[in-house]
Amino acid sequence: MKTAVIDKEDIIINSVKDLTLNGSKGAIVKVLGCGLCGSDIVKFREKISPDGTVLGHEIVAKIVEINSETDFKKDDLIVTSHHIPCGECIFCKSGNVSMCEHFKKTNIKPGGFSEMVYLSEEHLKNVAHKLPENLDEVEGSFYEPLACCVRAVRRADLIKDSRVLVVGLGSIGILMAQALKAFGMNVIGCDLIDERVQILKNLGIDAINSSDFDKFQKCIFEKTENIGVDVVFMTSGADRAIDMALRLIRNGGKILVFASTPKNWGYANNEIYYRELTVMGSYSPAPCDLAKSLELLRSGKVKVKGLSTIYAMDDINQAFKDTISNKILKAYIKISG
Ligand SMILES: [Zn+2]
Ligand SMILES: [Zn+2]
Repeated sequence: MKTAVIDKEDIIINSVKDLTLNGSKGAIVKVLGCGLCGSDIVKFREKISPDGTVLGHEIVAKIVEINSETDFKKDDLIVTSHHIPCGECIFCKSGNVSMCEHFKKTNIKPGGFSEMVYLSEEHLKNVAHKLPENLDEVEGSFYEPLACCVRAVRRADLIKDSRVLVVGLGSIGILMAQALKAFGMNVIGCDLIDERVQILKNLGIDAINSSDFDKFQKCIFEKTENIGVDVVFMTSGADRAIDMALRLIRNGGKILVFASTPKNWGYANNEIYYRELTVMGSYSPAPCDLAKSLELLRSGKVKVKGLSTIYAMDDINQAFKDTISNKILKAYIKISG
């Protein structure tokens, strides 16, 4: 089978032995395709993952071999996530499932950018679902990234109709804005790129180009009786976005951090103290968020058609480059038929 692996500055295609269950529990799946996640880009670009790593986790796949107590059968089309919380540790019990050691350790093998993947019985029991019939494979590949957004919205614990600004309208910002709307929030998105602002507007959500900050700030204050927004969701990894959030949030507001920033600058202590701000992070989804995500996709409350650019597996290196250069919004790597 073919796998795509990191090889210094590139992603190259390798040929390795086909997978079989060989008596173990779980399933072997044929990957139809896999979304390229922002976290894959960070692992590749910052050299966090070594050469030989198979990245990718946003898979849509067909079961080709199965030995399981679950109801999944051979030929089922499925979506799955890669990490599973233990449910027992202090992190799980406190609701920080993505900080669980077991969560961090578990993964799909060898990774999503591979013709075949092994899913453990635990994956099948906790984080895999059948692909709903009304979704195509590319739409299904948003199951895990949307679940990350659902968890962020849940963690923020917002009052209905809160005025929420989503900073950054990459694919995650567009999913986040729709998830917030689905949970009853009053959403405004902003980005420096006009096409991205337009995508959100086309989805029926208010969006503004923030290139001219003074004009943008005036617009936000006009919409919020001059106090600023209740909540800011930071899906942009730009350092200057932090300053922007602090200038647009109302006193007592919440800032949800959903992206790493290159310089790792922080939020000013005295701003948090005197203005009684809440700054919180959210990272990766819990199984309940995955189920909710699939429901939002199935019901059409979150729309993802047309967000992805499709690349053949042999062109995966180009998909990484085009994502890094912001040429495209989201890449979907088509792996098998
Ligand atoms: Zn992802
Ligand atoms: Zn745990």
